[in-house]
Amino acid sequence: MDITLLGTSGSSPTKERMMPSVAITYEGETFLFDCGEGTQMQMLKYGINTSRIKAIFITHAHGDHIIGIAGLVRSLALNGRSEALSIFIPKGYERVIQGLLTFDKAIICYRINVIGAKPGKVYSGKGFHVRAFRLNHTISTLGYAFKEEDRLRFDKDKTKKLGMKGTMFSEMLSKKKLHIKNKVVALSSITSIKKGRKVVYASDTRPSTSTVSAAKDADLLIHESSYSDQQANLAKERKHSTASEAARIAYRSKAKGLVLTHFSARYSDISPLLAEARKIFSATTAGSDGYKIKL
Ligand SMILES: [Zn+2]
Ligand SMILES: [Zn+2]
Repeated sequence: MDITLLGTSGSSPTKERMMPSVAITYEGETFLFDCGEGTQMQMLKYGINTSRIKAIFITHAHGDHIIGIAGLVRSLALNGRSEALSIFIPKGYERVIQGLLTFDKAIICYRINVIGAKPGKVYSGKGFHVRAFRLNHTISTLGYAFKEEDRLRFDKDKTKKLGMKGTMFSEMLSKKKLHIKNKVVALSSITSIKKGRKVVYASDTRPSTSTVSAAKDADLLIHESSYSDQQANLAKERKHSTASEAARIAYRSKAKGLVLTHFSARYSDISPLLAEARKIFSATTAGSDGYKIKL
């Protein structure tokens, strides 16, 4: 699983940081989380194949998170896409996406499904699913958790000892127990559960208990961090988070790692924000455009 931050600025771009978008590439398919202005350029720049996009998950209908859709769907059409594309946005805001699709209606020859999303499971793929959860921002906003399914793993030493081979494994999986060497062997006694990986994206939002639950034991939490402690009042007023608040969410959810993103354009140097967050949650990284994480 590859996670690439395509844009890490909030509200307006800077020379170094573009508008919000995160790409998760899993088993050869790409899923975008937010699609700010210039996302298609960032994909080209950081080597993410646009033809592999299966679905786009939009957190909310603020321009900095959605405007990139207009250019992207046009380029996909010009590249001869025939596969359908799904775009998720909080329920009630579907028309905002529809508006971004009107420019090039004549050339868009593939199907675009715009889906009004509510908290809960919104997408099931091959071996994973995506769940939406409620965030706390100035308009209806959803965070998304990308979760690989848990898998059963056979204990090689035990199955070898039992002399298991061939179809015995599939038989064991379907019957949950099997007669082997004159005794009954239970599936649970020779397997363990391999936990699926989980990546959670929360932007834009005040710190929220729903993020804590969604990010419980996550391998990675990508959380907005618009402001430093000094501007905590602005974070409250504009319904964003400070770096420390993001860190507290990561700490409470017992996530394994935190990546900060959506920095206000006022900060040319975000190292003070990173330092504030690390005081609370040491496994914090400051996101930058093109930053890649392999899980
Ligand atoms: Zn934003
Ligand atoms: Zn916003």
